[in-house]
Amino acid sequence: MKFVMTQAVCPEGMRLLEGKADVYVADHGEPDQYMDEMKEADAFIVRIGKCDKNVIENSPTLRVIGRTGVGYDSVDVEAATRAGIPVVITPGANNRSVAEHAVGMMFALAKNFVEAHNELKNGNWKIRDANKAFELQGKKVGFIGLGAIGMETQALCKAIGMETAGYDPYISREYVEEMGCEYYEDYRELLKVCDFISIHVPLAEATKGMIGVKELSLMKKTALLINCSRGGIVDEKALAEALNTGRIAGAGTDVFAEEPPTTDHPLLHAKNLVYSPHSAAQTKEAVIRMADMCIRGCLAVLNG
Ligand code: NAD
Repeated sequence: MKFVMTQAVCPEGMRLLEGKADVYVADHGEPDQYMDEMKEADAFIVRIGKCDKNVIENSPTLRVIGRTGVGYDSVDVEAATRAGIPVVITPGANNRSVAEHAVGMMFALAKNFVEAHNELKNGNWKIRDANKAFELQGKKVGFIGLGAIGMETQALCKAIGMETAGYDPYISREYVEEMGCEYYEDYRELLKVCDFISIHVPLAEATKGMIGVKELSLMKKTALLINCSRGGIVDEKALAEALNTGRIAGAGTDVFAEEPPTTDHPLLHAKNLVYSPHSAAQTKEAVIRMADMCIRGCLAVLNG
């Protein structure tokens, strides 16, 4: 059998295919590099790039699509379903890594790490007197999306001594309250009362632009916004404006609407923003779990 990958998975994952499949690995997500190979592919592994309608309709032998991650917005699932091709994702494999990343961003902002680091590099020891840092204990964090990653992050925040609250119309009030988390029926009400907001919803029609000018204007001036879910859920221009004008106190983002962002992207130059290159799930542990689950899942489909 033949596997085509938009980028190699980790060595532990590649080893699972030794002696079982021919593997073609592209080194970027652009279809021109691998479309010829797709003519004979049984499995297509999307690590970067997209598996769109065009790829699916021009891959006559394709029997399974694998995505190393839980978000499947990079796969046209409707087109795959029409073609009768199952899509394998890796739920749970990166929950802990993404949750730690979100909490890490909360710490970075609360402790003013980025400014202190840059000021000290420029010889400004007096930054220690700025008194900008604060404790997370006792602060209220609101989650938009209380699925696997939202709940894992909520548990970590609780362990630090933060108050937690959340909005997720698809999760029952009873379950959320059992987790020690206050339940909100309207996320705009949640925005008004929290010190931190952490977003953990998938990118979909209903969530696109969910946080824009209006929603940012509801947040406390001292509040901080964390987005480790998907770019496009937060209006980036509106967020940059809110940070630069002091409408909110700070933000952390792991994701951008267009990735990678261009060097003149407004968020890369906004005040009090901590960012990372969509790397929340790219820990040593999670990449092994994701590759293992994805390759085993694809082999299970191919072997019937
Ligand atoms: P999940 O499916 O377990 O949870 C998503 C939750 O969002 C669900 O509980 C769902 O009910 C809720 N939801 C859906 N629409 C909503 C809406 N309109 N309002 C409020 N809640 C809504 O998924 P997960 O594993 O927790 O992952 C969440 C998202 O995180 C993924 O879809 C992905 O986009 C993102 N993610 C990012 C990284 C990263 O590297 N930064 C890694 C993994 C996942």
